[in-house]
Parts: sequence; C-alpha cells; structure tokens
Amino acid sequence: MINVHDVTKSYGDVQALRGVSFDVAAGEIVGLLGPNGAGKTTMIKILTGYLQPDEGTVVVDEIDVLDKPIEVQSRIGYLPENAPLYPELSVQDYLRMIADLRQVPPEDQTERISDAVVDTSLVEYLNRPIGKLSKGLRQRVGLAQAILHRPKLLILDEPTVGLDPTQILEIRKLIKRLAQNSTILFSSHILPEVEALCDRAIIIMNGRIRADARLADLEATDNAILVLQKRVGGVEATLKQVTAIDKVETMRTSDGVPSYRIYGKHGADLCPLVYDVARQNDWPLRELRRDARTLESVFNEMATAA
Ligand code: ADP
Ligand code: MG
Repeated sequence: MINVHDVTKSYGDVQALRGVSFDVAAGEIVGLLGPNGAGKTTMIKILTGYLQPDEGTVVVDEIDVLDKPIEVQSRIGYLPENAPLYPELSVQDYLRMIADLRQVPPEDQTERISDAVVDTSLVEYLNRPIGKLSKGLRQRVGLAQAILHRPKLLILDEPTVGLDPTQILEIRKLIKRLAQNSTILFSSHILPEVEALCDRAIIIMNGRIRADARLADLEATDNAILVLQKRVGGVEATLKQVTAIDKVETMRTSDGVPSYRIYGKHGADLCPLVYDVARQNDWPLRELRRDARTLESVFNEMATAA
C-alpha cells in the first residue's frame, strides 16, 4: 500500500529526512514514532503529495506520488497535523464542502456524510459550528473528513496531540474501529499510543529510521526474570557459574520478594537453564519468565545512542 524508498528532504540547511525507506502492506496499522522534530510531518507531507522530496521514490496504492499527487490524494484520507477546519461552518456544511472538493457525486453525498458522522459519533453535532466544538470533537471532525470518500488508506499526523486523556481514549478507539476497513499509518511522539494501537512501529529519529519492527520483536529480549518465594543464599554466585549466563542483577521490588534479572550470552534461551539450576539447588521458585523491554526503554536506548 505504501512504498517509500530512500527519501531525503532538506529545508535550507536543516536535513529533515536522510534516506528514509519503508513499506506498509494493505491492512496494516503502523505507527510512525519519533520525538518532536524527527521528521514525521515532513514524511507524511511527502507521502500525501503536499511536499516534494529532494530525492527518493514514494508509491502509494501503486501510484507514484511525485507523478500523480492529485490522484493519490483522491484515494487516501489525510488528517494533517493542524487540520484546517472552518470555525464558522457547521459540521454538516463543512463535510459537504469537503465532499464537493473530493468530487463525491452529489447523489452520494448525504449517505457518505451520514456514514462518516456515525463512524466518528458526531451525529448530534451536525448543526453545530465547528468553532463551538471542543478540541476532541474538532479532531473527530478532522477524522470524519478524512474518511468521507471511503479511502483504503488513512494517514493521520499526531491524531491525539493536544487532547485530554478521555478524548485521547475516544480517538484511539475510533482509530481502532477505522482500522477494520482501512490501512492506517499514523504518527505519534507518544509510546503508549503506538503500543495501544498497532502491531508495528517505525521509529524515526533525526530524519533516519532507527527501527522498523513488530512491537513484540522490539520488546523481546533474551534475558530471564527469576522470582523466588523467599531469600536464599548464593543465588547470584551459583547462576554466574552457568556458562551461558553473563550477568545477574538483583532487582528492586516493592514487596521485597527476591527477584533477579539474568542476562545471557549470545542469544541463549535462559529459562530452561535457570529452571534446572533452581531445581538442583531447591530454590523456592515463584516465577520464571522471559524479560520484556518496554517500548519506552527501547526508545530511550536509541535516544541516548543517537
Ligand atoms: P516532526 O513532525 O517529527 O516533529 P518535522 O517533520 O515537522 O518533525 O520536522 C523535521 C525537522 O525539519 C525539524 O528540525 C524541523 O524544525 C524542520 N522543519 C520542518 N518544517 C520546516 C520548514 N517549513 N522550514 C524549515 N525547517 C523545517
Ligand atoms: Mg509533526
């Protein structure tokens, strides 16, 4: 659905994108995740044909965006970073204007608008001027315009920025619902958002893709976590004698149960090994599991490595 290859873009001497490549398949919901200034909006404007890259190719739904931006724009739904809404227009009049702009045939407009406001739960606000709506409702109007022409692909630039926690949850729920029928690429600088919404994250920093992975893979580690029912002597020393084990760390826990994080050498699966050691030594085992990194820690590691 999206193929981006080696895209670069500078604003004067600011290099916003430095050789960005990624693909999104039909049906995926992908988060473009990165801190402010990473290049997310620049990438999205290029994807949607509103900005020309300096170099590289961008293909959306098998159409070259550089050759045919208008055709691409007619097929995608786009929620820009600052949705250009018209405060004096009612929701209904605004959506009708958008339907005209997108050349939805007049006989279909009423049905399309009705579907869009049902999907975004805006029915009761149809006659309200946009300027009188809360930020959360305005964001829903932005989503309603993005889905009006029933696009196969939705591109959303920081869809929850500036919303309060309740509004954020509502918009996330809505995006999840929209994902049942469309491919979605959305940008965010908020990790939990990406974790809540998608299976795959493309992490962008400083104009470069730093990771492109399924969240489960990004979060997986080879480390093991061992929790005992009560403290016993010599746990660390005993574990360190196992060849495959590199390092043992005592973890701080609030309930005071002895917990250890065990680091392995070269990708060994530690849990079976640790289990054997625990049995041989009669340790009162309470829990043994693979350690998972949070996306937060992945992100921080990358930020400090950058
Ligand atoms: P993000 O959306 O991830 O916050 P942007 O794509 O908006 O990042 O910006 C990437 C970089 O390009 C930043 O350093 C930003 O300051 C710079 N930039 C963005 N737009 C412009 C512009 N119109 N003129 C000059 N610099 C810009
Ligand atoms: Mg941005």
